[in-house]
Amino acid sequence: MHAPKALPSIWVTGLSRLMADEMQCAWSVWFRTYFRYEKLNTNFDSAKWSASHRTLVNERVNMLEAEGYTVYVEGENRFEVLGREYLVKVAGKPDIIALKDGHAWVEDCKTGQRKNSDLYQMLIYLLLLPVSLAPCQGLSLQGRLIYRDEVVEIRATQVNQDFRAQFRAAIAILSSTTPPRKVPSFQECRFCDISAQYCLERVDHENPHTSSEHGLF
Ligand code: SF4
Repeated sequence: MHAPKALPSIWVTGLSRLMADEMQCAWSVWFRTYFRYEKLNTNFDSAKWSASHRTLVNERVNMLEAEGYTVYVEGENRFEVLGREYLVKVAGKPDIIALKDGHAWVEDCKTGQRKNSDLYQMLIYLLLLPVSLAPCQGLSLQGRLIYRDEVVEIRATQVNQDFRAQFRAAIAILSSTTPPRKVPSFQECRFCDISAQYCLERVDHENPHTSSEHGLF
Protein backbone atom coordinates (compact mmCIF):
# COMPACT_ATOMS: atom_id res chain seq x y z
CA MET A 1 0.00 0.00 0.00
CA HIS A 2 1.23 3.49 -0.74
CA ALA A 3 -0.50 6.83 -0.38
CA PRO A 4 0.36 10.36 -1.47
CA LYS A 5 1.59 12.70 1.26
CA ALA A 6 -0.49 15.79 2.01
CA LEU A 7 2.58 17.85 1.01
CA PRO A 8 5.73 16.59 -0.71
CA SER A 9 8.42 16.31 1.94
CA ILE A 10 11.98 15.11 2.15
CA TRP A 11 14.41 14.47 5.00
CA VAL A 12 17.74 16.27 4.94
CA THR A 13 19.50 12.88 4.89
CA GLY A 14 17.93 11.87 1.54
CA LEU A 15 18.38 15.33 0.05
CA SER A 16 22.05 15.47 1.03
CA ARG A 17 22.74 12.10 -0.62
CA LEU A 18 21.13 13.33 -3.81
CA MET A 19 23.14 16.58 -3.74
CA ALA A 20 26.39 14.75 -3.02
CA ASP A 21 25.78 12.54 -6.06
CA GLU A 22 25.98 9.41 -3.93
CA MET A 23 22.99 7.86 -5.64
CA GLN A 24 22.23 7.57 -9.32
CA CYS A 25 18.55 6.72 -8.93
CA ALA A 26 16.99 10.12 -8.23
CA TRP A 27 13.59 8.47 -8.71
CA SER A 28 13.90 6.78 -5.31
CA VAL A 29 14.27 10.16 -3.57
CA TRP A 30 11.44 11.61 -5.65
CA PHE A 31 9.15 8.69 -4.72
CA ARG A 32 9.93 9.14 -1.01
CA THR A 33 9.17 12.84 -1.36
CA TYR A 34 5.66 12.22 -2.69
CA PHE A 35 4.51 8.95 -1.10
CA ARG A 36 4.19 7.06 2.17
CA TYR A 37 4.81 3.38 1.54
CA GLU A 38 5.54 0.10 3.24
CA LYS A 39 9.30 -0.02 3.48
CA LEU A 40 11.25 -3.06 2.50
CA ASN A 41 13.52 -4.46 5.18
CA THR A 42 17.07 -4.03 3.87
CA ASN A 43 20.09 -5.69 5.47
CA PHE A 44 21.05 -2.52 7.32
CA ASP A 45 21.58 -3.31 11.02
CA SER A 46 19.68 -0.35 12.49
CA ALA A 47 19.82 -1.64 16.10
CA LYS A 48 23.63 -1.79 16.02
CA TRP A 49 23.84 1.62 14.30
CA SER A 50 21.46 3.18 16.86
CA ALA A 51 23.43 1.89 19.85
CA SER A 52 26.75 3.17 18.58
CA HIS A 53 25.26 6.49 17.44
CA ARG A 54 23.54 6.94 20.82
CA THR A 55 26.82 6.36 22.65
CA LEU A 56 28.62 9.01 20.59
CA VAL A 57 25.78 11.54 21.01
CA ASN A 58 25.75 10.98 24.79
CA GLU A 59 29.51 11.46 25.00
CA ARG A 60 29.26 14.79 23.14
CA VAL A 61 26.30 15.99 25.24
CA ASN A 62 28.17 15.24 28.48
CA MET A 63 31.28 17.02 27.22
CA LEU A 64 29.40 20.12 26.01
CA GLU A 65 27.36 20.41 29.21
CA ALA A 66 30.56 20.14 31.26
CA GLU A 67 31.91 23.08 29.20
CA GLY A 68 28.85 25.17 30.11
CA TYR A 69 26.85 24.87 26.89
CA THR A 70 23.07 24.71 26.86
CA VAL A 71 22.40 21.57 24.82
CA TYR A 72 19.38 20.45 22.80
CA VAL A 73 19.24 16.87 21.52
CA GLU A 74 17.62 15.19 18.48
CA GLY A 75 13.81 15.39 18.90
CA GLU A 76 14.16 18.87 20.42
CA ASN A 77 15.91 19.98 17.23
CA ARG A 78 13.32 18.83 14.69
CA PHE A 79 12.56 21.45 12.07
CA GLU A 80 10.58 21.77 8.84
CA VAL A 81 10.90 24.40 6.14
CA LEU A 82 8.38 24.75 3.33
CA GLY A 83 9.62 26.38 0.13
CA ARG A 84 7.77 29.37 -1.29
CA GLU A 85 8.64 28.84 -4.95
CA TYR A 86 8.88 25.04 -4.80
CA LEU A 87 6.15 23.43 -2.73
CA VAL A 88 8.38 20.92 -0.96
CA LYS A 89 8.91 20.59 2.78
CA VAL A 90 12.46 19.86 3.98
CA ALA A 91 12.62 18.25 7.43
CA GLY A 92 15.59 17.48 9.64
CA LYS A 93 16.66 16.59 13.14
CA PRO A 94 20.31 17.39 13.87
CA ASP A 95 21.79 15.39 16.74
CA ILE A 96 22.91 18.30 18.89
CA ILE A 97 22.49 22.06 19.12
CA ALA A 98 24.74 23.69 21.69
CA LEU A 99 24.48 27.35 22.72
CA LYS A 100 26.91 29.53 24.65
CA ASP A 101 27.81 33.23 24.70
CA GLY A 102 25.69 34.16 21.65
CA HIS A 103 27.11 31.32 19.53
CA ALA A 104 25.27 28.21 18.38
CA TRP A 105 26.89 24.99 17.22
CA VAL A 106 25.03 22.32 15.32
CA GLU A 107 26.65 18.91 15.61
CA ASP A 108 26.00 15.67 13.80
CA CYS A 109 27.58 12.44 15.05
CA LYS A 110 28.80 9.98 12.44
CA THR A 111 29.67 6.40 13.32
CA GLY A 112 29.69 4.85 9.84
CA GLN A 113 31.96 5.42 6.87
CA ARG A 114 32.71 9.04 6.01
CA LYS A 115 30.70 10.29 3.07
CA ASN A 116 30.51 13.48 1.02
CA SER A 117 26.86 13.71 2.02
CA ASP A 118 27.99 14.36 5.65
CA LEU A 119 29.17 17.79 4.54
CA TYR A 120 26.06 18.46 2.45
CA GLN A 121 23.85 17.47 5.37
CA MET A 122 25.61 19.95 7.64
CA LEU A 123 25.46 22.73 5.03
CA ILE A 124 21.70 22.21 4.68
CA TYR A 125 21.38 22.52 8.46
CA LEU A 126 23.40 25.74 8.40
CA LEU A 127 21.19 27.07 5.61
CA LEU A 128 17.81 26.17 7.14
CA LEU A 129 18.18 26.19 10.93
CA PRO A 130 18.52 29.99 11.27
CA VAL A 131 15.13 30.42 9.61
CA SER A 132 13.33 27.55 11.30
CA LEU A 133 14.49 26.72 14.81
CA ALA A 134 13.90 29.30 17.55
CA PRO A 135 17.06 28.69 19.66
CA CYS A 136 19.27 29.38 16.61
CA GLN A 137 17.63 32.58 15.45
CA GLY A 138 19.79 35.67 15.76
CA LEU A 139 22.87 33.66 16.80
CA SER A 140 26.07 33.02 14.91
CA LEU A 141 25.69 29.36 13.83
CA GLN A 142 28.54 27.00 12.88
CA GLY A 143 28.66 23.26 12.35
CA ARG A 144 30.70 20.31 13.55
CA LEU A 145 30.81 16.81 12.12
CA ILE A 146 31.71 14.46 14.95
CA TYR A 147 33.56 11.34 13.87
CA ARG A 148 35.03 8.84 16.32
CA ASP A 149 38.57 9.99 15.51
CA GLU A 150 38.10 13.61 14.41
CA VAL A 151 35.93 16.70 14.73
CA VAL A 152 35.50 18.62 11.47
CA GLU A 153 34.32 22.22 11.74
CA ILE A 154 32.04 23.56 9.02
CA ARG A 155 31.80 27.34 8.76
CA ALA A 156 28.60 29.17 7.88
CA THR A 157 30.55 30.89 5.08
CA GLN A 158 30.64 27.53 3.27
CA VAL A 159 26.93 28.05 2.59
CA ASN A 160 27.93 30.05 -0.47
CA GLN A 161 26.20 30.89 -3.76
CA ASP A 162 27.30 27.61 -5.40
CA PHE A 163 25.85 25.58 -2.57
CA ARG A 164 22.59 27.55 -2.59
CA ALA A 165 22.27 26.99 -6.35
CA GLN A 166 22.88 23.24 -5.89
CA PHE A 167 20.27 23.14 -3.13
CA ARG A 168 17.67 24.88 -5.30
CA ALA A 169 18.46 22.57 -8.24
CA ALA A 170 17.90 19.47 -6.08
CA ILE A 171 14.63 20.85 -4.71
CA ALA A 172 13.52 21.68 -8.28
CA ILE A 173 14.05 18.02 -9.28
CA LEU A 174 12.02 16.81 -6.31
CA SER A 175 9.20 19.32 -6.74
CA SER A 176 8.61 18.37 -10.35
CA THR A 177 5.52 16.28 -11.00
CA THR A 178 7.49 14.62 -13.79
CA PRO A 179 9.58 11.98 -12.04
CA PRO A 180 13.32 11.80 -12.71
CA ARG A 181 14.54 8.59 -14.34
CA LYS A 182 15.07 5.36 -12.47
CA VAL A 183 18.58 3.97 -12.62
CA PRO A 184 18.22 0.37 -11.49
CA SER A 185 21.38 -1.44 -10.49
CA PHE A 186 22.05 -4.23 -8.04
CA GLN A 187 24.63 -2.05 -6.26
CA GLU A 188 22.01 0.58 -5.45
CA CYS A 189 18.75 -1.40 -5.38
CA ARG A 190 20.01 -3.79 -2.69
CA PHE A 191 20.18 -0.87 -0.22
CA CYS A 192 16.87 0.66 -1.38
CA ASP A 193 13.76 0.21 0.78
CA ILE A 194 11.34 0.59 -2.17
CA SER A 195 10.04 -2.87 -3.03
CA ALA A 196 9.26 -4.29 -6.48
CA GLN A 197 5.61 -3.63 -5.65
CA TYR A 198 6.31 0.07 -6.36
CA CYS A 199 9.40 -0.21 -8.54
CA LEU A 200 9.09 -2.90 -11.19
CA GLU A 201 12.64 -2.23 -12.39
CA ARG A 202 14.15 -3.20 -9.04
CA VAL A 203 17.26 -5.39 -9.44
CA ASP A 204 17.59 -7.95 -6.64
CA HIS A 205 20.30 -10.11 -8.18
CA GLU A 206 23.66 -9.33 -9.64
CA ASN A 207 23.77 -9.62 -13.41
CA PRO A 208 26.32 -12.39 -14.15
CA HIS A 209 27.18 -10.70 -17.50
CA THR A 210 28.64 -7.70 -15.71
CA SER A 211 31.07 -9.75 -13.64
CA SER A 212 32.36 -12.42 -16.03
CA GLU A 213 36.01 -13.01 -16.76
CA HIS A 214 37.17 -12.08 -20.23
CA GLY A 215 40.24 -12.93 -22.25
CA LEU A 216 40.56 -9.35 -23.62
CA PHE A 217 42.86 -8.37 -20.81
S1 SF4 B 1 14.71 -0.24 -6.33
FE1 SF4 B 1 16.44 0.47 -7.57
S2 SF4 B 1 15.54 1.36 -9.42
FE2 SF4 B 1 13.92 1.14 -7.90
S3 SF4 B 1 13.83 3.08 -6.83
FE3 SF4 B 1 15.20 1.81 -5.64
S4 SF4 B 1 17.24 2.23 -6.45
FE4 SF4 B 1 15.78 3.00 -7.94
